[in-house]
Amino acid sequence: MDFTALRSDFSGEILTPQSAGYEAARKIWNGMIDRRPAAIARCTGPEDVAAAVRFAADRDIYPAIRGGGHNVAGLAMVEDGLVIDLSPMKSIAVDAAKLTATAQTGLTWGEFDPATQAHGLATTGGLVSTTGIAGLTLGGGIGWLMGRCGLVCDNTLAYEIVIASGERIRASADEHPDLFWALKGGGGNFGVVTSITYRLHPLISMIAGLILHPLDRAREVLSFYRDFVQSGLPDELIVYAAAMSTPDGMPVIAMLPAWSGSDLAAGERAIAPLRNFGAPIADLVTVMPYVALQQMIDGGVPHGLRSYWKSGFVRELPDAAIDTFVDFAQQRTSRHSIAILEHMHGAATRVAPEATAFSMRSEGLDLVLIGLWSDPAEDARHTAWTRSFFAAMNPWSMGAVYVNALDDDEASRVPQAYGRNYTRLSGIKGRYDSENRFRRNHNIAPVKQAMA
Ligand SMILES: Cc1cc2nc3c(=O)[nH]c(=O)nc-3n(C[C@H](O)[C@H](O)[C@H](O)COP(=O)(O)OP(=O)(O)OC[C@H]3O[C@@H](n4cnc5c(N)ncnc54)[C@H](O)[C@@H]3O)c2cc1C
Repeated sequence: MDFTALRSDFSGEILTPQSAGYEAARKIWNGMIDRRPAAIARCTGPEDVAAAVRFAADRDIYPAIRGGGHNVAGLAMVEDGLVIDLSPMKSIAVDAAKLTATAQTGLTWGEFDPATQAHGLATTGGLVSTTGIAGLTLGGGIGWLMGRCGLVCDNTLAYEIVIASGERIRASADEHPDLFWALKGGGGNFGVVTSITYRLHPLISMIAGLILHPLDRAREVLSFYRDFVQSGLPDELIVYAAAMSTPDGMPVIAMLPAWSGSDLAAGERAIAPLRNFGAPIADLVTVMPYVALQQMIDGGVPHGLRSYWKSGFVRELPDAAIDTFVDFAQQRTSRHSIAILEHMHGAATRVAPEATAFSMRSEGLDLVLIGLWSDPAEDARHTAWTRSFFAAMNPWSMGAVYVNALDDDEASRVPQAYGRNYTRLSGIKGRYDSENRFRRNHNIAPVKQAMA
């Protein structure tokens, strides 16, 4: 492919396999992804993005979009094609008076959060600091603050986006409201988003941390966890559970509470039952800055390990489901692998399913099975563990999935991520991208219509 025409219109670097920096730029979080794009266009601003999209449209090629490079399916990279790489675009403007932040889409949460925390403000982000704000926000965004503040997409006020024609438009409640709705969970289907304006909330300290029990106590711990989260938690308290290993390799079952309310004494009281349960081998719960919480589990999910995921929402966790979860957790084939239960409640569940593209709005548990390992020779073994664990949990499935947790072999599950919203999304996709230019994603099939 000849990129001369793009170079004349583009301020950033265009990396080809001969360029210094190409190897580093094609590496993403999942070490299993080994794609060699023909070019990686490292955008410096929306003008570069528009040039790259026009170039792709003129040559009828289907670019991949790279934000933070964390998507497990490797959507950010494409073999022998064009990658529109947003990662150099990292400006952020916080308006503390208006409680908003407008952020370019090359930022990670580890870069976004300190900028808002400098003003004692935050918005819902993910569980770790290394994910990109873009892909995570566009899929909906599940995180520590969702009980109090809603999902990430519930806090978006506007998107600047380059659509398939190369035109730059703004989507908000007043401008292209259909697109605004679709961007609240519809992923990278509608164009290349160059900046997002978020609503911010006052937040300084959290009470959070891990409470670790030996994995052989997992049945009792998970029964307690289930009853605790179903007892009607305050919005400010989120509690996850995870079967994982300590850094020195000991298998544990962890409860991870996070209190985001301003009344820390109330938080201590709310978390106390978790801390008082059983005989934990470690109780690491403490008052910490939100930025520290965001980095707390980064070390457990390092860049470059090989990874395969299965995920889906479960409504409840009867004893038989706990038994199944524990059996598979005990048979983990890699000490790096993690099985997580993410309790969703509060503000995130008070939004109507049809109010945003992200449709899973009932209280429930997101089961996220993360196979993680380092040796390519072991791919089949760890992938099989992840798949068989997920299949065994199927009896308790709600039939819904978070789009950002889908892996590369799960195109058929995309409609499950949107439920009844899928038809409307297909129509909007048809209006803004009838040729399906943006198809290197968890794709929503366009239904062709005239653009509004
Ligand atoms: C270790 C780890 C922890 C995670 N934790 C959470 C969590 O707590 N909560 C949560 O909700 N999710 C979480 N995720 C999932 C995460 O939301 C997805 O992996 C998401 O795709 C990451 O965004 P990214 O920008 O880093 O992805 P990338 O791989 O860069 O992009 C993935 C896709 O997103 C779309 N996209 C990205 N940027 C743009 C853009 N600017 N315009 C249009 N489309 C774009 C494109 O389709 C692209 O192919 C986690 C993932 C990992 C690996």
